Amino acid sequence: MKKIFLIVLDGLGDRPNDELKGRTALQAAYRPNMNRLTREGQGGMMHPVSPGYRTGSDTSHLSLLGYDPEKFYTGRGPFEAMGLGMTVLGGDVAFRANFSTVDQDGVVLDRRAGRITEGTDKLAQSLSFSVDGVEFFVKAGVEHRGALVMRGKGLSDLITDSDPHEAGQKVHEVKALDEKAKFTAEVLNKYLSIARKRLREHEVNLQREKEGKAPANELLIRGAGQAPSLTPFHELFGMKAASISGIPMITGICRLVGMESINVEGATGRLDSNFRAKFEAAYKTLEKFDFLIMNIKATDVAGHDGDPVAKRDAIQRIDAAMKDIDHILGDTVICITGDHSTPCTMMDHSGDPLPILFNTHGIRKDNAVLFDEISCTKGTYHINSGDVMKILLQLSDRAEKYGA
Ligand code: ZN
Ligand code: ZN
Repeated sequence: MKKIFLIVLDGLGDRPNDELKGRTALQAAYRPNMNRLTREGQGGMMHPVSPGYRTGSDTSHLSLLGYDPEKFYTGRGPFEAMGLGMTVLGGDVAFRANFSTVDQDGVVLDRRAGRITEGTDKLAQSLSFSVDGVEFFVKAGVEHRGALVMRGKGLSDLITDSDPHEAGQKVHEVKALDEKAKFTAEVLNKYLSIARKRLREHEVNLQREKEGKAPANELLIRGAGQAPSLTPFHELFGMKAASISGIPMITGICRLVGMESINVEGATGRLDSNFRAKFEAAYKTLEKFDFLIMNIKATDVAGHDGDPVAKRDAIQRIDAAMKDIDHILGDTVICITGDHSTPCTMMDHSGDPLPILFNTHGIRKDNAVLFDEISCTKGTYHINSGDVMKILLQLSDRAEKYGA
């Protein structure tokens, strides 16, 4: 049985760019290593989740790892909390949160607390405590944004928001949408009233009021989502698994399925990430693990920036960083793909299918010779992202026989 190395170039797929003479960023990139792996292995095209779906990185990664997002995706809350680097466990209920300003009657004056930029870390710290056996964790994000995670027995996400979603309205009481959610709503309302008191008396807010700034005296919460309880990856596939990623949300998803996360110095999740350091860490990790997923975010960043030259250059630097990848082909199946397309012309995710390549010693070759959105249509596979784990198990000689 072989090991598996799944390389996810985030937002890899592209559309033709005028700046690149009508080519995609991938077609325009000098990519001898990706091309060789394709030519000497197998190529194909992959739809994220299902044809025509325009997916986020969260739903795409769940699907790539063999967890059907249509069954297990429970809304943005838990995944945004992971994105802030919070630990989210199966059964936790998570929310997006705003530090905001309310008057003494609880009417929202400013949903962004005067566009607060400082002190929210300290405010968040004072809001992490337990009520009636339920633990609450708050983490601040950019400006007024943050997330709230509830952890305890018998929680439910079938509750309403406290956020009235516009200024001039009173902060809503959280209500249960069914009988089973009553406890969650009750304990959450209790928590929010204690939180309110703490925020009002907090030194950060007293100081802001002294300076004539709007105090961040209310935490508005919205978009409750319960993190799914997933069968751990090692139980599902019988492989000891690890992840390398510069972005907290992907690390969070991999942790949620029980993978170990490997920290790489210089892996920033941006265009300046140290790709070479990531590949070196990957080879070392594969000595101790059966499965490794490595996300590289730079391609998605350039796509969102609408910068095809930056996207092409990122692909070229990633390709150069994998120059010695062939040495692991003897006992490892390598797969390179993306999680979805992020066309530079769209500056956001699209539902376009993306190329995928597989290689390992002894693999059958096919007619895909270049690694890009066009050449790979001549390859072996025309699949959905949910098929990738099955193909990887098959190529690594780990698939169980179906039938006698
Ligand atoms: Zn993505
Ligand atoms: Zn993106």
